[in-house]
Amino acid sequence: MSVKVCKFGGTSMADGNVINGVKKIIESDAERKYVVVSAPGKRYSGDTKVTDLLYASYAELQKSGTCKKSFTAVRARYVSLVKELNIPFDIDALLDETEAMIEREKSEDFTASRGEYLCARIVAEVLDAEFIDAKDVIFFNEDGSLDGEKSYKAISFAVSGAERAVIPGFYGRGADGKVKTFTRGGSDISGSIVARAVNATVYENWTDVSGFLACDPRIVDSPVKIKTISYKELRELSYMGANVLHSDSIFPLRKANIPIQIKNTFSPQDAGTSILPSTRYTPSGSLVTGVAGKKNFTVLFIEKSHMNAEVGFICKVLGVFVEENIPIEHIPSGIDTMSIVVESGRLSKEKLEVIIEKIKAAVAPDIIRVIEDIALIATVGHGMSSSVGTSARLFNAIANANINIKMIDQGSSELNIIVGVQNEDYEKCIRAIYSEFFN
Ligand code: ASP
Repeated sequence: MSVKVCKFGGTSMADGNVINGVKKIIESDAERKYVVVSAPGKRYSGDTKVTDLLYASYAELQKSGTCKKSFTAVRARYVSLVKELNIPFDIDALLDETEAMIEREKSEDFTASRGEYLCARIVAEVLDAEFIDAKDVIFFNEDGSLDGEKSYKAISFAVSGAERAVIPGFYGRGADGKVKTFTRGGSDISGSIVARAVNATVYENWTDVSGFLACDPRIVDSPVKIKTISYKELRELSYMGANVLHSDSIFPLRKANIPIQIKNTFSPQDAGTSILPSTRYTPSGSLVTGVAGKKNFTVLFIEKSHMNAEVGFICKVLGVFVEENIPIEHIPSGIDTMSIVVESGRLSKEKLEVIIEKIKAAVAPDIIRVIEDIALIATVGHGMSSSVGTSARLFNAIANANINIKMIDQGSSELNIIVGVQNEDYEKCIRAIYSEFFN
């Protein structure tokens, strides 16, 4: 039998009226059996997400030993939500208990996770469905990674027999037995895990947009919608800043080839975007699927004559980053040169100085230079590799916009070309690329 897992994001949980709309969506399709929810998000621009209110509660708790003041705002959100839903649910008692537990546990992850926990409890009541606590079915390994096999087994056991079940997103149980959260936006990953566990026909991810757009609508006016996209393209685009879906969401689904459907809670009839495994994906015929990017990278440029002949050169340089525990994003290289691209937020001034000194000691480069305020822009599409002249068009478009390219990296998958430009050229560069391939 076909089974759908539906994950509803924060804006789909924002207030009682929206949750009533979600109830309609779920009940209109008997295959929508398993529901994963985020914490209530923003009701209007300028509003604060419940998760952020909870992080503020934890900050207050750390400072003063109580979270009383900040938790008032959390309380108000849930009380009004339950009132709007007009259901017999003792939210006050549950909030009292939650506040007391937050103060007892004194854990940031536990505090943050309560947004999803409370929301799932309410939605289970609204749907008359079974509530399954994520801490009993989603498990992490000692190193913080997901214990997939254990989680899939526990979920499929827990949901068996349930007509409909609601599971809070964003957290599970760490190896120490305590509640542990994913990174922000992690309910998308929880949804993928549940979809994998029940071998869903499709994982529906309900958001407040009708699918992926080919680029950021804040930069380009009404960009085209992407109807279908492969897992790999999605991974590239979401990693590079297209933030409809958490970039790690596809990992649990890959082996089972489960498609993801992005849907809009506020316009459920819209087709949305289908995210497909390569076995089911046929490129749409367009050369480029999407353009995405991020600002604020630092590039460390290193030059040394005969670098290519020096055995272990790259290894020694990278060893410094391992020692300093700094993740590297890209390493474009030439014969005598290499560049190391790192997110600027990872590098304090002192850290950068330490790294430079260590590289000097390790490989004695002729030149080592730091280039800051770099934006990376990825142009992504399966069609690019099979078509002659794509990169020429890309670089011409950037040149015609009078933008200086600081770095180029073509992934060996030939699925993307990444260019680095100065932060201030970021928007202009995205517009130039978009207009070259889509207008
Ligand atoms: N509520 C969490 C956040 O705001 C997780 C999620 O919404 O997916 O990041």
